[in-house]
Amino acid sequence: MSVRFVKSSVSAYGMAPADENRALRLVELCGRTAYKSEDKITEDSARKFVLMLKSRGHLSVLEHSNIVLKIEKDPASPVGGGAAPISFEMMLEALRDRLGFHRICPLGAGDGFLIAGNFRAWVDTLEHLKQRKSMHDFLLQSLEGFFPALFQGSDAAGRESPVSCRASLVGEDEQLELLKSDPSFDLPVFVFKFVCDRGITHEVVRHRVFSFTQESTRYVNYGNRGMVLILPEELYNSYDEVKGEPVPGSLLAGEWLKRAEILFHWYGEDLARGLRPEIARDILPNLLKSELFVSGRWSGWKHFIMLRDSGQAHPRIRSLAKEVRKYFEGLGLKC
Ligand SMILES: Cc1cc2nc3c(=O)[nH]c(=O)nc-3n(C[C@H](O)[C@H](O)[C@H](O)COP(=O)(O)OP(=O)(O)OC[C@H]3O[C@@H](n4cnc5c(N)ncnc54)[C@H](O)[C@@H]3O)c2cc1C
Repeated sequence: MSVRFVKSSVSAYGMAPADENRALRLVELCGRTAYKSEDKITEDSARKFVLMLKSRGHLSVLEHSNIVLKIEKDPASPVGGGAAPISFEMMLEALRDRLGFHRICPLGAGDGFLIAGNFRAWVDTLEHLKQRKSMHDFLLQSLEGFFPALFQGSDAAGRESPVSCRASLVGEDEQLELLKSDPSFDLPVFVFKFVCDRGITHEVVRHRVFSFTQESTRYVNYGNRGMVLILPEELYNSYDEVKGEPVPGSLLAGEWLKRAEILFHWYGEDLARGLRPEIARDILPNLLKSELFVSGRWSGWKHFIMLRDSGQAHPRIRSLAKEVRKYFEGLGLKC
């Protein structure tokens, strides 16, 4: 019977990529983590997988991404040609119902503005802007230029392009420099993977400003792959992770393992009775290892660190928050 403990951990995936290939691969990795089907990732599987998510409306996985556009007046546009540039104020007004999903920052007077949003935000915003044809068509044309796999082909007919603006893509380095120069440029999205227990994932997902994709106990069949639990700090010295067994003479670790084996045995019995994993899971313990991708902007992470790297927080979420803090300190961003 396969039951073992591992320590919780944090992997920093850095900033959501500003180029389409890397961005699609990251979204695929997040999506496949839910089903533990990472073994199906190939050199060219990402585009197909992400388009499948989009067509089925599984849009929350598309949130582990970020597109930052700089929108400026086009100096090449003829004066008095009837075309109007999109101003910061116009964009704010057009997106007044959607401001929670974008960051919009003005540049110097008359120098245009920056606008950020994840793939899902942009997909929904384009839909929202359909009544404002020139703005919609300009944004769609810009997005499909930088992210063709996601945006190309939609609404190609009858396009208007009467705005005298140009859009450029803001890369990761520039996003970070802007943020470091002024925290109001809260544009980049930072992606982390937490390996922790189900009790702690439940605490992490309370942070509503983030995007999440979590290993699914509905779809993953632990009967086939064994049950992995998170090793509580209290057992660090009494469990041998390499051998996968309690250190000889350690009563507490031996006791916890025995209980876990009983639960896993009952889980297996229910599967053998024909229950689906989504029903048999009810017997699984809170300590079950779960993988969770979490993406968000610096302001959200700062808030997370403040609440969770604190003496009030549960020690296991605190150890995750400490790792997140270290990552940001390495970038030169301090809480
Ligand atoms: C030590 C500790 C003990 C806790 N104990 C409990 C407990 O006993 N029971 C329990 O249920 N929870 C508990 N929690 C969870 C806590 O209540 C929050 O749900 C969690 O910390 C997320 O914090 P947040 O809402 O500030 O963050 P987020 O959801 O990430 O929100 C970030 C910020 O966005 C804004 N915001 C987001 N959504 C809204 C909204 N709908 N309306 C207005 N403003 C919004 C707020 O300014 C907020 O500060 C505990 C948390 C901690 C740290």
